[in-house]
Amino acid sequence: MRYDDSDQAQELAQRAQDLMEEVVLPMERERPGGMAVSSGTITKLREAAREYDVYAPQIPEEHGGMGIDFRDALPVFEEAGRSLLGPVAMRVDAPDEGNMHLLELAGDDLQKEQYLDPLVAGDIKSGFSMTEPMQGAGSDPKMIQTTAEKEGDEWVIDGHKWWTTQGVEADVLFVLARTDEDAHPYQGCSIFIVPADADGVEVVRNVPHMGGGAHGISHAEIVYDDVRVPEEHLLGELNQGFVHAQERLGPARLTHCMRFSGMAQRSLDIAKAYTSERQGFDSTLSDKQSLRHRIADAETRLHVARTAIRDAADRISAGEEARVPVSMCKVFTANVTQDAIDLAVQCCGANGIGKDLPLSDFYESVRQFRIVDGADEVHRRVIARHAFDDVDEAELEPVTRFGQPNRRSGDGH
Ligand SMILES: Cc1cc2nc3c(=O)[nH]c(=O)nc-3n(C[C@H](O)[C@H](O)[C@H](O)COP(=O)(O)OP(=O)(O)OC[C@H]3O[C@@H](n4cnc5c(N)ncnc54)[C@H](O)[C@@H]3O)c2cc1C
Repeated sequence: MRYDDSDQAQELAQRAQDLMEEVVLPMERERPGGMAVSSGTITKLREAAREYDVYAPQIPEEHGGMGIDFRDALPVFEEAGRSLLGPVAMRVDAPDEGNMHLLELAGDDLQKEQYLDPLVAGDIKSGFSMTEPMQGAGSDPKMIQTTAEKEGDEWVIDGHKWWTTQGVEADVLFVLARTDEDAHPYQGCSIFIVPADADGVEVVRNVPHMGGGAHGISHAEIVYDDVRVPEEHLLGELNQGFVHAQERLGPARLTHCMRFSGMAQRSLDIAKAYTSERQGFDSTLSDKQSLRHRIADAETRLHVARTAIRDAADRISAGEEARVPVSMCKVFTANVTQDAIDLAVQCCGANGIGKDLPLSDFYESVRQFRIVDGADEVHRRVIARHAFDDVDEAELEPVTRFGQPNRRSGDGH
């Protein structure tokens, strides 16, 4: 399927595909099923990504990336998503990818030097701490409880977070906290850069969770107890934390969509390979029309998702407001991807469940996508609010003429 990707985007995606076919997928297939990869393997994968010239394409060159425009870099995310090892190889892996983007947008020169450059190089890891235990921030982030108070030239952070991805491994944490109790939270929160080894940062546990697979990653519960950071650790503007979080989340939702659409495509490719080989009831399984039609529907829906993601990315690149298109992409792609992977598992029978193929890792990994970065219902809320924004009362006029003789022209009954 061809899309309106620029020549540069297509060349980049081709190199990413070569890396996937020649290095990442062979390595993934050699890996004992269900095992997490070592840091040594990740280093090798990243060296290979540099050789293929597809390492951190989305990051400006002065910070160690390739300086490719967001829209042109997007197809790389899709290629990378075909394996759980792809994003980590090309340094387009969550949550660091979103956090690097946040630093790039909101960080000052010193913050970029101290945190962005080593993140891009893969020397450090990061986490983004927004979600809190009940009754704190979750689907409704304005319920945020964590506070940061200014004392002299320091900020003092107190709060309790959970589901901070990579929170156990992180060297640096980006923490959203209330900085103005009197303002509405959307105008009264800020983001702080907190070194993970700062006094008062207590990683309570890695919350046991579904998924993990080849690139096992933690989701941490973290207490911030009287954590003091210098005032220079405020990221971006004071009280603009939600604005910066949205700047991070908009593109991050699309890059998530692309990684997962790559995972969906790979799942369908595996299903097509398996059913084309496997015989049953006097033909290959791929000859059974019921399976063919379900694959056809999954391919169609995936194509629509990919097209919609590119449309939303075009709007972001053009500096347009894209909240509704991004929400549409997020909720649609999450469901399309989940359905495609479920279908692939079904098509491969027991081997869909086994760990020799990557499908069961994909299956576990995809379920989070309908919750993380805003649950389906929260995005539908955004879409519905826009849909009901401009209700045309004239459409009801024909059914509100009570007690009047029929005045319509023509010879209707
Ligand atoms: C794998 C994973 C990684 C994550 N990583 C991070 C991270 O790095 N940093 C971070 O800060 N957070 C992270 N999160 C948290 C994530 O952002 C939240 O789980 C998400 O915002 C939902 O919040 P909640 O879990 O508190 O659900 P709740 O707010 O308790 O909602 C529960 C469910 O209610 C439904 N619901 C909610 N609102 C509505 C509504 N208005 N109408 C109808 N139904 C509704 C939804 O189905 C929702 O799933 C992660 C979550 C997961 C699963």
